[in-house]
Amino acid sequence: MSKVRILREFVAARWWRPLRTRAAVERRQARLLRRQLRFLRRRSPYFRDLLETHAFDELPLMDKSVMMNRFDEINTVGVRRDEALALAIANERSRDFAADLGANSVGLSSGTSGHRGLFIVSPRERDAWVGTVLARTLPRGKLTGHRIALFLRADNSLYESVGSRAVSFSYFDVHTDMAENIRRLDDFQPTILVAPPSVLRLIARAAEAGTLGVLPQKVYTVAEVLEVADEGRIASALGQERVHQLYQCTEGFLAHTCEQGVIHLNEDSVLFEREPLDDERFTPIITDLRRRAQPIVRYRLGDVLRPRATPCPCGSALTAIERIEGREGDTLLFRGRDGRTVPVFADVMTRALLYAEGFDEYRVVQTHASLLEIALDVLDDRTTDSVRHEVQSLADRLGCERPEIVFTAYERDGSVKLRRVVRTWRGTADEEL
Ligand SMILES: [Zn+2]
Repeated sequence: MSKVRILREFVAARWWRPLRTRAAVERRQARLLRRQLRFLRRRSPYFRDLLETHAFDELPLMDKSVMMNRFDEINTVGVRRDEALALAIANERSRDFAADLGANSVGLSSGTSGHRGLFIVSPRERDAWVGTVLARTLPRGKLTGHRIALFLRADNSLYESVGSRAVSFSYFDVHTDMAENIRRLDDFQPTILVAPPSVLRLIARAAEAGTLGVLPQKVYTVAEVLEVADEGRIASALGQERVHQLYQCTEGFLAHTCEQGVIHLNEDSVLFEREPLDDERFTPIITDLRRRAQPIVRYRLGDVLRPRATPCPCGSALTAIERIEGREGDTLLFRGRDGRTVPVFADVMTRALLYAEGFDEYRVVQTHASLLEIALDVLDDRTTDSVRHEVQSLADRLGCERPEIVFTAYERDGSVKLRRVVRTWRGTADEEL
C-alpha cells in the first residue's frame, strides 16, 4: 500500500483531468489505448497472438467464460488460474482475505450470470482504485477527517490498511450478523457510507427504528442496481437529498454519480463501445485502458444502460447515463399477441410494480414462457390482486398476452446479489435477445 500512489491518483482524478470536452476525452482515450496495446503485445500471450492479425476494433469480444478459459494466457503477471481459484475459494470460505498471491490480490466475483469470475489486481492497481474512489466520493470542501464505511460481500484486507489521519476506512462483512454490523456502524459514525442497496435498506430500517444515531453525509450504493422505490426510502430514512451510486464490478470501476446525482461513465480510464439493444438502451463493451495484471479488452458486460437525453448541468464531458438497469439476462420475455417475443426490461417491471400496494419485499421470476413466480412478503388477497392487476396492465400496454402468475412467500437471502427481476426460463434459441 503506497500512500503516495493513492494521493497521486486522487489528485489526478479529482483535479488534473477535468475533461471538459468530448475531444479531450477522446484524445486521452486514444493515447491510453495505444499505450495499453503496446503493453499487451509485449506481456499478454493471448493478446499478442490476436493483435498480430487483428486491429483493436476487430478483436473478438470477451466475456466471463473467455476470461476463465484463457486466464493463464490473458493475465500478465504469470498467475495460473487453478492456483488463483484455489486461493480465492479458500479466502472466501474462511472470510479472511489476508492471503494474497505474491504481491497481487485475488478474489472471486459472484456475478449474476451464475458463472464464477476470478479477478486479480496488482498493488499499483489497488492504490489507483482507492485513489479514484476517494476522488469520486469525498464531498466538496473539507477533505480530511472522513470515515468511510464499506459493506462488501467479499474482498481482501485492502480497505482496513488504508486508514490514516486524513481518511479512515472501516470494512463490514455483509455475511456477518447485521445487528452487530449496525452496532459497529453506530460506533464508527461514518461520514460516507458505501453499501449494496439490499444492505442499505436494512440500515435505513435501523435508522427509522432509532438504533443508528448519527447519519452519514453521503450515501453510495454499489454492486446492485438501485431501484427507484429503494432510492426514495433509503434517502429519506438516512436524511439524504439523494443516494449516490458507484457502478463497480469485477471488470472495473465503470461509473459514478456527480454532485448532481447524475451517473457518468468513467471514460477517463475505460473505453465504452455500445451494442444497441433498442432505440434507447445499449449494453456496454468495455476496455479498461489502464488495468494490466488482468487486461479487460472489448469485454461484453450484461448490463443495460440508458444514456441521458440532455447534458448534465455539472458540465462534465463524461457520458451521462439516465439509468443502469437490471442485467440483460434478467430481461423478461413476454409473448406478444402477434406471436413476437417482447423483451420486458427489469426496470420496466419494477416501475410497473411501483404502483402495486401492500408489500415491501418482492421478487419476480419468469420460470416459463408464460409463467411468473412472484414472491411477496405480504400475501393477502388485496396485495396479490394489486400486483396481478399491475402486471396484467403492463402486459396489455405492451401488446402481450397476460402471463399466468403464481404467488409465493418472499424469503430473504443476504448471501446472493439482490435481483428483484429474474428470468430462469432460457426460452428457445430464436427467442433469446
Ligand atoms: Zn454531472
